[in-house]
Amino acid sequence: MSFSSLALDKALTDAVNALGYQQPTPIQQQAIPAILANKDIMAGAQTGTGKTAAFALPILQRLSEHIPSARPIRALVLTPTRELAQQVYKSFLRYAENTDLNIAVAYGGVSIKPQIAAIVKGADVLIATPGRLLDHIINGSVLLIDLETIVFDEADRMLDMGFKDEIDRILNRLPPKRQTLLFSATFDDAIFKLSKTLLSDPELIEVSERNTAASQVEQIVYTVDSDRKRELTSYLIGSKNWQQVLIFTRTKQGADALAKEMSKDGIKTQAIHGDKSQGARDKALAEFKAGKTRALVATDVAARGIDIHDLRYVINYELPYVAEDYIHRIGRTGRAGNDGLAISLMSPSEAWLLEAVEKVLDTRLMQQWLPGYEPDLSKTERPARKNTLGRQKRQGRQQAFGDKSNAKARKSRRR
Ligand code: AMP
Repeated sequence: MSFSSLALDKALTDAVNALGYQQPTPIQQQAIPAILANKDIMAGAQTGTGKTAAFALPILQRLSEHIPSARPIRALVLTPTRELAQQVYKSFLRYAENTDLNIAVAYGGVSIKPQIAAIVKGADVLIATPGRLLDHIINGSVLLIDLETIVFDEADRMLDMGFKDEIDRILNRLPPKRQTLLFSATFDDAIFKLSKTLLSDPELIEVSERNTAASQVEQIVYTVDSDRKRELTSYLIGSKNWQQVLIFTRTKQGADALAKEMSKDGIKTQAIHGDKSQGARDKALAEFKAGKTRALVATDVAARGIDIHDLRYVINYELPYVAEDYIHRIGRTGRAGNDGLAISLMSPSEAWLLEAVEKVLDTRLMQQWLPGYEPDLSKTERPARKNTLGRQKRQGRQQAFGDKSNAKARKSRRR
């Protein structure tokens, strides 16, 4: 199947051809006709499947059919993180290159003024994180009364990050008659509940089994004592000569400490997490993408939305407290048909976290010992305490964001 057989305008097919896309991915093949037909959709699509073009192309096509002179915002894409907002914004700019449409982006952590300037100039499409969007709504720079289409991108993560209240407040400002598109990598009861209130007779689109990891990603679990994980990480990267490796830790302190130690091992490494300024995060990411840094250590929240087309290696330095995060983590590799390798370093005390991951994946992952790094079974590591899932999620998020718990700090981190 070709892009032109999807009834897309030449302006759009030219743009995707220029990007080297040969044919639509499965999610694009299914979602584009449904969105062009003005249907609501609920799509289960992992990262790396081409989901951004799956909603961007038909939205751009419909908006460019008639461009009103007042230029109100007619399409809104909500994303959970700043990084994903930037990523989606860049994709929209590329896809819209041959159209007359204006695209704007709004996220926190940076000055609001240039965003206001871009929006008041007349943005047909706005990509935004929920917190900053509410700031714009409150100060009057964003009006959504003419909205035709709203996209919830990575809806599972949005709920996971506690954006339900913001979403409800935004929904109150939208016209009741609109098209709603919901994309989520994983599905749970909260997503189904949200979809019931949001969607009207939606088309369900699933490109691979629910809650499964990208199939072209090979997954390996090494059992290793926690105090030898850093050594093993440097050994793997060095001995196998991996040049671009994304590493996940659960905490921002852990990310900083690991980046420091690995740099001492001679592997140029930087860390990104929620306590770093937006500028520092952008710079670290750009240097990693450009191959100037060999390893990037990230917390789950900071890594969300990172799109490096040919990233091959992901290391889970620690298994996540929220099992679904495992899918998001390994989805950073194996993107758009490339091969990927995801290695998890599991200390004996983390066995219960692996069980939770296996439950979500509905498959068992083979555990291996790497010669020279076998766990010392005479040492008994105290198992991490089993909490209720809600507590685990809160704990995981809190650690990823840091320990500040006052409402103001929480609010500013989420914008
Ligand atoms: P996404 O799932 O939207 O984050 O896209 C993942 C990556 O796949 C991005 O780097 C896109 O540029 C790329 N991509 C999207 N659609 C296609 C396609 N039809 N053919 C090749 N690459 C694609």
